[in-house]
Amino acid sequence: MIPLPRELRRCRDCGQAVLITVTRAGRHLLVDARPDERGNQACYRVAPRTWQSRSLDGAGALPPAAWEHRFVPHVATCKPRPRQEALPAALPDNVVRLDTKRKAHRPR
Ligand SMILES: [Zn+2]
Repeated sequence: MIPLPRELRRCRDCGQAVLITVTRAGRHLLVDARPDERGNQACYRVAPRTWQSRSLDGAGALPPAAWEHRFVPHVATCKPRPRQEALPAALPDNVVRLDTKRKAHRPR
């Protein structure tokens, strides 16, 4: 089963298309948009725009069922884009340096 384009979202960190699934523990897990045999998550659609995922790595985990496909967790492939390039040491006269006033960025 391949997710429909309307079921995909863009990762906030890298911009790649991702599928948001719900784990059996009720938490959200982002997986890559296309099924991949190397993946360790068995995913399937349970309702329109709602996908369930379960780990295949856990002790006693059953192999993927006929209705499940393997997906790679997006965290394994995400390559975050740099947020902003470093400013040059000397700025033009009409530019005010604000980065010294800014709070440290807290990664999500
Ligand atoms: Zn990403």
